[in-house]
Amino acid sequence: MNTILTGDRPTGKLHIGHYVGSLRERVKLQNESEYDQMLIMIADTQALTDNYGNVQKVRDNVIEVMLDYLSVGLDPKKTIFFVQSDIRALPELTMYYMNLVTLPRLLRNPTVKSEIKLRGFDDGEKGVPVGFVNYPISQAADITAFKANIVPVGEDQLPMLEQAREIVKSFNNLYKEVLILPNPKLPENEVCKRLPGIDGSAKMSKSLGNCIYLSDTEEELKKKIRQMYTDPTHIKLEDPGHIEGNVVFTYLDAFCTDEHFKTYWSEYKNLDELKNHYKRGGLGDAKIKNFLFEVLNDTLKPIREKRAYYEQRLEEVLQILEEGTKTANQIADKTLKEVKDAIGINYFENSNYLKELINKGEK
Ligand code: ATP
Ligand code: MG
Repeated sequence: MNTILTGDRPTGKLHIGHYVGSLRERVKLQNESEYDQMLIMIADTQALTDNYGNVQKVRDNVIEVMLDYLSVGLDPKKTIFFVQSDIRALPELTMYYMNLVTLPRLLRNPTVKSEIKLRGFDDGEKGVPVGFVNYPISQAADITAFKANIVPVGEDQLPMLEQAREIVKSFNNLYKEVLILPNPKLPENEVCKRLPGIDGSAKMSKSLGNCIYLSDTEEELKKKIRQMYTDPTHIKLEDPGHIEGNVVFTYLDAFCTDEHFKTYWSEYKNLDELKNHYKRGGLGDAKIKNFLFEVLNDTLKPIREKRAYYEQRLEEVLQILEEGTKTANQIADKTLKEVKDAIGINYFENSNYLKELINKGEK
């Protein structure tokens, strides 16, 4: 059985990093028949670990993320959407898994480490809530509750997956083989594993404000592309240009196809030809930026249109989430029962406990 689980934090609208890093893959997987179930989680409990004082932001973005999902073509007929805080089995699973991980192991997690710096907690490291450090464990609960074996993620999530795999192995060894070992699924295209921000920084991220959102208007898109960081040594037209670290080319790497050249810039056959000309010199940034606009807009236009459609139908959108959450609860409850049975903390549902007591009394 192939079960896919992924999710996003409702800390902002989704951006093109999410699109190439994970959403595009999800839509593809959804339309293939080699898997049995796909679940997509809006990780609001996770978002509270660093937004506990700003719940409104999380509340506002639950619906925004849901709108983004539907606009990219994720289909509620094929996919179960649910909201994390409503799944009652998750905190309980987290509790049991917490005993299987040491504190130094958690603190060593590279994603936890880098995100502690990124989030800027009051009083530096001393101000980090336990809930935040604990998030790899709660993520293991999310994945295992649904017995997911495939988890499409960006590269930043690999240490989380590694932690989840360790928990699964410990649990199955210690108690009983009930949990499924999850495998990360990274995008094949190197630049899509961690798309940089428009400011050239290492990762486009909602929290860093360096994003092109899927919901940006054409004007916003144009403006962001105009401001985009390119090659600071490419001053005069005839100067040779550099591709490395030049986000305009990174985004072209992630989005552009030979078809785009045919339609919008037939002077070149493909991206390699364009890159070679840029490197030789004689090609201005503005022209490439215009092309990038066409390429991105080609992907974003239909998404924008679909979003406008669903924005008029919020009740329906919320209903999809509620229905999905009901189904997800049924699946997670079943796993929780198996987990409690495996640990041996099932006193009432199983007559074995009473038998045990009677046997002991007779001895
Ligand atoms: P936040 O800043 O609140 O953490 P985020 O932009 O990092 O938000 P998440 O909700 O944490 O987004 O990530 C959701 C999924 O999208 C994860 O699988 C993550 O790996 C992937 N992802 C996020 N940003 C990028 C990116 N720039 N490139 C590729 N994948 C990404
Ligand atoms: Mg993140």
